[in-house]
Amino acid sequence: MLKCRELVGKADQYLDGELLLRERLAIRVHILMCHHCRRYLRQMGALLRAFPHRHDSASDEEVCAVMEHLQQHADKQDEPA
Ligand SMILES: [Zn+2]
Repeated sequence: MLKCRELVGKADQYLDGELLLRERLAIRVHILMCHHCRRYLRQMGALLRAFPHRHDSASDEEVCAVMEHLQQHADKQDEPA
């Protein structure tokens, strides 16, 4: 099975839809069972939606904005659907 570290390494490509079907399935199986990676991917997705065109390194201001964004959403995302 995919390890958490491998998932984190592929998260960008997964969210951008750049992975092969086999790799996407491995990630989906992993996040079905792994709460940590599920939350990680959800936060990464929110981050990409907040900053859709920022794939180069972020400035300090952008990092602060992202951290605020994650904190605002962290509580909501922990609640069951
Ligand atoms: Zn995991």
